[in-house]
Amino acid sequence: MMQKQSRPIYLDNQATTPTDPRVVDAMLPYFSEKFGNPHSGSHAFGWEAADAVENARARIAALIGAAPEEILFTSGATESNNIAIKGLARGSRNGRKHIVTCVTEHLCVLNSALDLEDEGFDVTYLHVDGDGLIDLDELRAAVTDKTLLVSIMAVQNEVGVIQPLAEIGAICRTAGAAFHSDAAQGAGKIVLDVKAMNIDLLSVTGHKLYGPMGVGALYVRGDANLRIESLFSGGGQEKGIRPGTVPAPLAVGFGEACALAAVEMNEEAVRLMNLRDKLLDRLRGDLDGVRLNGSAECRIPGNLNISIEGTRADKLMAALPDLALSSGSACSSAHSESSHVLRGLGLTDDQAESSLRIGLGRFTTEEEIDYAAGRLIEEITVLRQGSVSASEPVRAAG
Ligand SMILES: *Cc1c(COP(=O)(O)O)cnc(C)c1O
Repeated sequence: MMQKQSRPIYLDNQATTPTDPRVVDAMLPYFSEKFGNPHSGSHAFGWEAADAVENARARIAALIGAAPEEILFTSGATESNNIAIKGLARGSRNGRKHIVTCVTEHLCVLNSALDLEDEGFDVTYLHVDGDGLIDLDELRAAVTDKTLLVSIMAVQNEVGVIQPLAEIGAICRTAGAAFHSDAAQGAGKIVLDVKAMNIDLLSVTGHKLYGPMGVGALYVRGDANLRIESLFSGGGQEKGIRPGTVPAPLAVGFGEACALAAVEMNEEAVRLMNLRDKLLDRLRGDLDGVRLNGSAECRIPGNLNISIEGTRADKLMAALPDLALSSGSACSSAHSESSHVLRGLGLTDDQAESSLRIGLGRFTTEEEIDYAAGRLIEEITVLRQGSVSASEPVRAAG
């Protein structure tokens, strides 16, 4: 038996990331010292906060190749996705009533699309292949001159699969459809260039890239003439599209997180890829029946999603209180049904129920990965032995 840790090892970086201490340091002055309302135009407290918010806006823009004035602050990716999809659909006056999205999108995208179906829009849900990738020919066939919007995520939150954004953008541009991408898992992990990729709307969030929870942004392409109806009534902040006071401390933290990611992303990717491959190699070296879910190549470095044949993920996680893992997304863990994402990739219910998501991040160490590999192998072996003996015929007494 390996020595158990006092605090679990955090391996759920697709659910959220810890706020980088450098980000916390940047935020602190904006709580109680530089506390002004950034929309107060009549005194220095307001100007100071406004300067900080504008600086943060520029740093977020820089990470994705946008201009600062194309960035709107929101509360996170859920809100950005709702504004992008429902706000555009309700605000547009060009007669296009068709939307294309994908079966493995986050529920906030899928449920926004469902809302719009109730409002008279047609929605096409693209399939994914066994690797989790959409088929560009299926997209080409789906998009018509009635298509208002194509919403395809940058990186899938359960399986870490990266969609071909530049190719999707080119198809949308040719068809005159707007292209929205939920990049909650992509920003700060992969290179995103909204201009080169022909992206018109892009959603990002602070807490998936070592920034604070409760702040996000929506990029709206400046020269695309998109008409977006606000989902809220309010005081006209953020071009009236997202009224409400911009939370200056959170915006500053988000900006700092984006600036750090821009500098450190490439090096971090190499380190995480090595750790992840080491973990997968060790699991596969010691165990049979370990299947990687989602493309091995088109995948962010910090994600592993594996099905472990003959092992239920809920039982495994219960046996591993020293590892913080998940079996799917945090958002759908309230539902008991198996993941819509893994089913979208074609997994059987048994395979989905034996699936584990392992999310490595900036603060994951090699020692933690060595420990996690050992403990996973240990407990999977125990569970498999248990299920073999449990499935032996039980002789009735007497
Ligand atoms: C986390 C996540 C969201 C939701 O973001 P919040 O900022 O928590 O609202 C949306 N989409 C994807 C792909 C995510 O990973």
